[in-house]
Amino acid sequence: MPFPNAITSQRTLLFTLALLLAGGFLVTSLLSYYASRSSIRDNIINTELPLTSDTVYSEIQKDLVRPTLIASMMSRDTFMRDWVVSGENNPEQIIRYLREVHDHYGAYTSFFISEKTGIYYQAKGILKTIKPDEPRDAWYYRVRDMSEPYEISFDPDMANQDRPSFFINYKVFDYNNRFIGAAGVGLTVDAVVKLIDRYQQRYDRGVFFVDTRGVVVLTGTSSSPHDPQAGQTLLDLPGLGKLMEKLPQASNDSYEYTAEGADSFVNVRFIPELNWFLFVTKKENGALDGIRHSLYLNLAICLAVTLIVMLLLNKTLHRYQSRLEAQATLDTLTGLPNRRGFNLLASNTLDSPGPVTALLLDLDHFKHLNDTHGHLAGDAVLAGFAEDLKSCLRQSDVICRWGGEEFIVLLKDSDLAGGQRVAEQIRRLAEQHDYFFSGSMLQVTVSVGLTERLPNDNLQDLIARADRALYQAKLGGRNQVCVERAVPV
Ligand code: GH3
Ligand code: MG
Ligand code: MG
Repeated sequence: MPFPNAITSQRTLLFTLALLLAGGFLVTSLLSYYASRSSIRDNIINTELPLTSDTVYSEIQKDLVRPTLIASMMSRDTFMRDWVVSGENNPEQIIRYLREVHDHYGAYTSFFISEKTGIYYQAKGILKTIKPDEPRDAWYYRVRDMSEPYEISFDPDMANQDRPSFFINYKVFDYNNRFIGAAGVGLTVDAVVKLIDRYQQRYDRGVFFVDTRGVVVLTGTSSSPHDPQAGQTLLDLPGLGKLMEKLPQASNDSYEYTAEGADSFVNVRFIPELNWFLFVTKKENGALDGIRHSLYLNLAICLAVTLIVMLLLNKTLHRYQSRLEAQATLDTLTGLPNRRGFNLLASNTLDSPGPVTALLLDLDHFKHLNDTHGHLAGDAVLAGFAEDLKSCLRQSDVICRWGGEEFIVLLKDSDLAGGQRVAEQIRRLAEQHDYFFSGSMLQVTVSVGLTERLPNDNLQDLIARADRALYQAKLGGRNQVCVERAVPV
């Protein structure tokens, strides 16, 4: 029978170990996850986003420097100023001049607008005559009235299907410092847009420009509806509305925000040449996918290791438990079941439907044998007798060293006559057997009390009757089998 206390403490041990292992694994996995997470976040805020911002900014600067120089040279060009001052005769000349600027410098639009005539000259010819009440011409009047010598603006290019373009607009003066028009070049933002696209796709970042009023002015070509669209304000963009109040003084800085339930980061940089803010955004989710996967993998491995350790431990404990239990039910000297073992086995036999006979056996004058030959000799005789006893019994019979030099046997499916035959066989075998110990030949006899199970017998009743029969055998002179016949009540 398993020992309840042992099972409880075994379960407690397993549970505690499982808790320690799983807890340890969980804590170390989570600690390393949070450490990696925080370093990734730091990296995004302090390195990735500012670096992207730097690259986009320097690309823009690179794109703007050359056209600014060209526009500056145009505004000081003596041919152009002479041609205007001398009455704008022969427009072919200025058109050829603008075409030369355009062709020589590649992708630029080149233009001159005369203050006197209002004519918009460009490389392909005369575009139009500007009018003060035409909203699309407002830029010219803005340039005319500004105090700075030039501006960089972002407008649709009227000479090129309204493509969004940067314009470097220079004021042109005659030799008496009188304003005579505006000249300059335009460049499409394709290069910048391509750069934005590359960053958005390859590095999974959002890149867009916002003017000082918080209106999105330039984005990549990506068509995802979640991406900011030109014309939207920061208030329209999830999580970014709070940055509105930081404009137009927003310093170059990184901020954390939440968009559509995901933690995100944004780096804001002011670009003085354009009077715009460059926004570079990144969602934390994508960046953490890798370490999240390794966390799940870690946890799965930890779980598997914990389970395997638990299984192995459980098996080992079980094996030791069974061995301990077996040892606890066996007598060490004879290898026969002891009383505990007997109690476990006897109930099965007593419950069996067929006849059962009980034998109580006691070695005769054993004390004398001990006294004469020593305790160790007594032990050898006990072990030898146990072997003899076993040899007379079947597998189904229950045998037990009841204590000292006494034994009990339950014979299954055996009536009194059968029991008497077995008892007599045992008695004769003991009588005839010479046991040897340390060169001495030892002999022993056994007295046997025998009785048969009655229908309502319990173990105590049965043993009590067998004991009385054994007593009779001793009284009768020992080395004999006595029967106590049961009298049914
Ligand atoms: P009886 O014929 O009336 O049974 O006499 P007995 O001497 O056998 O009976 P008693 O009960 O007086 O003595 C039993 C002896 O068995 C006493 C004890 O020292 C001895 N004995 C009990 N267990 C062991 C054992 O494990 N080893 C040895 N060597 N002796 C044992
Ligand atoms: Mg005895
Ligand atoms: Mg005895």
